[in-house]
Amino acid sequence: MNIKELLQRIQTSFRKKKEEPNEIVQGFLRVLENARVEELTCDEIFSTLDEYVEREVGAHNAADLMPLIREHLDICPDCHEEYEALLKVIEEAGEK
Ligand SMILES: [Zn+2]
Repeated sequence: MNIKELLQRIQTSFRKKKEEPNEIVQGFLRVLENARVEELTCDEIFSTLDEYVEREVGAHNAADLMPLIREHLDICPDCHEEYEALLKVIEEAGEK
């Protein structure tokens, strides 16, 4: 079952019960909706992240060239953390 199906299933089940999902469920649904935008998996992000960061440090407009990665970094705290760490490493290497 993919995320889209899961999302539809949850929404349908609330419609049947004729009740509003509570705040926690609504938050969860929003996360799932965002996740649908996420076309790349974290593994794929990790494998291209060093290239992305290098482009960014080199001012090659990485976000324009690789918008899917930028998008993923905005919604995925794990990858964002990895990105920040990598950015720091590359910046420090550049200063030496
Ligand atoms: Zn990720």
